[in-house]
Amino acid sequence: MKDQNLDKSRRAVLKGLMGIPVIAIAGMQTAQAAMLSVDDPTAKALQYTDKSTTAGQNCANCGIYQGGSAASGPCPIFPGKDVAAAGWCKSWVAKP
Ligand code: SF4
Repeated sequence: MKDQNLDKSRRAVLKGLMGIPVIAIAGMQTAQAAMLSVDDPTAKALQYTDKSTTAGQNCANCGIYQGGSAASGPCPIFPGKDVAAAGWCKSWVAKP
């Protein structure tokens, strides 16, 4: 009887722990970073624009862009900010 109660409480603890990563992942999916401003000092230094004027080059086709097919997304050059898929900066590199 005592062992059964212990098993029940172990199961309850394990069940609770299993829910934590799911909650963390769900939180990450809904979190959205602020858009990078063209007035940001690093953005200015790298000539970032939210609308590329460089033929054939934009954030969406940059090898560094992490936004997939989204209209905006992360770029490791600007940590914690999202860049516009249509944007560009002078760190642009071709996708491998
Ligand atoms: Fe856009 Fe520049 Fe980042 Fe490439 S490196 S995704 S061009 S901001």
